[in-house]
This record gives sequence, C-alpha cells and structure tokens, in this order.
Amino acid sequence: AKQEGRSTFRFYAPELRTQSSRTLRLQTDLRLALERGQLALVYQPQVRLGDGALLGVEALLRWQHSELGPISPAEFIPLAETSGLILPIGEWVLHQALQQLQRWDAAGLGPLTMAVNLSAVQFRDSRLAEGIGKLLRVSGLAAHRLEIELTESCAMINPQGTIATMESLRRLQVPIAIDDFGTGYSSLSYLKRFKVAKLKIDQSFVRDLHADPDDRAIVRAVIGLADHLGMRTVAEGVETAEQLAWLREHGCDQAQGYFFTRPLPADALQTWAQQRNL
Ligand code: C2E
Ligand code: CA
Ligand code: CA
Ligand code: CA
Repeated sequence: AKQEGRSTFRFYAPELRTQSSRTLRLQTDLRLALERGQLALVYQPQVRLGDGALLGVEALLRWQHSELGPISPAEFIPLAETSGLILPIGEWVLHQALQQLQRWDAAGLGPLTMAVNLSAVQFRDSRLAEGIGKLLRVSGLAAHRLEIELTESCAMINPQGTIATMESLRRLQVPIAIDDFGTGYSSLSYLKRFKVAKLKIDQSFVRDLHADPDDRAIVRAVIGLADHLGMRTVAEGVETAEQLAWLREHGCDQAQGYFFTRPLPADALQTWAQQRNL
C-alpha cells in the first residue's frame, strides 16, 4: 500500500505543480487586469413570472485574459479572495454596476434593480456599509435600486457577523438576497434573523425539475418558506419553457436563466430590453 501511495503521489505531482503555477500567474495577472481595465461586467435579466416584466439584472464579472482567454469567475474570485484583491475588485464592481444603472435610467430603460454579488471577504469588512452608502450618495440612486447577493454558505460562515452586516445594510435600505439557497445548510432560525428580501433558488434544483420529484419537493418547500417569512423567490438557471411554467404555477416570483438570455454586455442588454418592449 505504501508503494502504491508513493507512485500515486509521483503520478499527480506534475499536475499539481502546473495548477499552482497557473494559480500564481492568475493571481499576479488579476492585479494587472484590474489596473488595465481588463475586467468587465455582463448583465442577466431578472423577470417577474406573473407578467413577464423585466425587473432588474444581476451583474456578473468577466475577465478576458490576453493570452489565456476568458477565465471563469468561479476560478478567479477564490484567488482574489485569498490575495485580498477581492476588496478593490468588489468596489470596482459596485461602482461600475451603479454607473451602468444611471446610464440605463438616462436611456429610459428604468427603473431596473441591480443585483451585485458580494464575497464573504467583503461582507466581513467593517467598512462595507459605509462604502456602499457613499457610492449610493454619489450616484444619486435610491438604495432599493441596488441589491446585494450573498451565498447561503457565505452567510453561514459567521452567522452573528452576517446579521450585524445585514443590519447595517438594512439601515441603508439596501435589500439582500440569499444566493444559491438550498446548498448551504442554513438553519431556519438564522434565516428568520437574517431578514432578507429574497431567496435565490439554486440552479441545481431547477435543472432537473421535470425529472426529479425530490427537486420539485425542495423547490415547493423553499417557495412556501419564503412566502411565510415574507420573502420573494427567484429561480436561477431557468433554461426551458417547462421549468418556467412549473415555477410560475407553483408561485415562484421571479426567474433568470438562459431561457431568457445569457448574461449580456451592457449595450446588448439594453437592446434586448428595448426589443422586448416593442
Ligand atoms: P452565481 O451568483 O450563482 O451566478 C449564476 C451563474 O449561473 C453565472 O455564472 C451565470 O452566468 C450562470 N447562469 C445563468 N443562467 C444560467 C442558466 O440558465 N444555466 C446555467 N447552466 N447557468 C446559468 P458565472 O457568471 O460564471 O458566475 C459564477 C459565479 O461567480 C457566480 O455564481 C458568483 O458566485 C461568482 N461571481 C460572478 N460575478 C461576481 C462578482 O462580481 N463578485 C463576486 N464576489 N462573485 C461573482
Ligand atoms: Ca448571484
Ligand atoms: Ca446563484
Ligand atoms: Ca452558484
């Protein structure tokens, strides 16, 4: 067994080395990307199921690496979190997203809401609410136009701290949505104390709605829970008309997903929204 363990190690070692050198490179390059304007936001519509109205968008970060091509946020956000770069990146995202909202207001698209993803590292920063308050004041946008998305697992890392930060955002009147809901083992008693505006039903439950009775039971339960606690529900990752119809029928409030459109650059989102209104 010892022999086997050693050869397994030798087999994997070169791969590990490659991975960590990619990690190091991405970490260095991400700093430059931020400075050189190589990060961009794309926007995915959030639609009300009752009448199909476009209510808002979620801002999603993109990095086009000059040599390695597009890097997924699922890969570079964790790197930004360990290097601390997530704080300036997160601030850039908020600033950029609010500026875009002002442009859409001016273009007569509004009043949309702008959902922004926040990392647990940002949420731990005691100056978060102050920074967001300042950005809102400078933009002149009402606080409820911005919406903060925090994943369920981030919220549960330090529930007491989460409650405190959520309180400070609530004082600003910035609504909060729990992202990837159903994947993070939150206790129901905390859920009540978080006092969030929205639960985003994770796409892993939406994907197999048509085939998996367990997923249907979970989604029904989440919608019921949200109803009783006075929260709205948003289904993520909606790709088919069947999923959409089922969700509407079962009282889900909003949806986003490829069924409507993939996340789009700002101009394309605006065209999409305007053509839809014709
Ligand atoms: P998320 O917040 O759960 O975002 C939803 C992800 O699902 C996005 O992936 C989106 O492009 C994708 N998606 C949307 N509709 C569909 C669909 O119908 N089917 C499928 N299969 N996927 C769909 P993306 O853009 O690659 O982002 C991945 C994750 O990276 C996000 O998950 C979020 O956790 C994180 N992220 C993205 N932007 C930011 C950011 O600005 N800040 C932070 N802290 N995290 C971010
Ligand atoms: Ca999200
Ligand atoms: Ca999500
Ligand atoms: Ca997710």
